[in-house]
Amino acid sequence: MSKILIVEDEESIAELEKDYLELSGFEVEIENRGDTGLERVMKEDFDLYILDLMLPGMDGFELCKKIRQEKNTPILMVSAKKDDIDKIHGLGLGADDYITKPFSPSELVARVKAHLSRYERLIGSNAQQNEVIEIRGLKIDKTARRVFIHGEEKKFTTKEFDLLTFLAQNPNRVFTKEELFSNIWDMESIGDIATVTVHIKKIREKIETDTSKPQYIETIWGVGYRFKM
Ligand code: CA
Repeated sequence: MSKILIVEDEESIAELEKDYLELSGFEVEIENRGDTGLERVMKEDFDLYILDLMLPGMDGFELCKKIRQEKNTPILMVSAKKDDIDKIHGLGLGADDYITKPFSPSELVARVKAHLSRYERLIGSNAQQNEVIEIRGLKIDKTARRVFIHGEEKKFTTKEFDLLTFLAQNPNRVFTKEELFSNIWDMESIGDIATVTVHIKKIREKIETDTSKPQYIETIWGVGYRFKM
């Protein structure tokens, strides 16, 4: 059964959405604040998110952006104003769709179903070529973009995941920070090679037992980094 998280502060709207979605066979949870909504997103797996824009704690724009940094799950934005829709587009937040209030519950259900089946097709088509890298207790599932260390899943941001995967796919090769930066970050990125150092540190905190004696990503002083095979 698909599980949906609604983040909406107007109780009557949240309950209405929940009722209709449950009638259509979905499992639905509600959070009424943006910040608690984000906590829930990080703790639990959902198949789709429905986010209101005006929320206490953290607004829907920020929430959408933060979810998208971590997950590919479909996001449906709900807004009362046409202006907000333009803003959603303009900001490139990664929302999959939007719906304006007031909307008919059947329209909401139809949109939800369409996005879930599109996403399931996407996952399904990738599942056949599921690629996994496994090295000494570290497992990188490239398709699902998930990382496990000794069976325990660690949450990675998009760039941390890309950087770790890039290094693990090219083991024993020394890369300079400049090379890593140009491979992982696109040209328009704001930042510099110090970003690489910061990301390596974060990755080590997640995968290394002792970050002062890294078993996976070695620092080659004066040169860069190498993934030990
Ligand atoms: Ca609201």
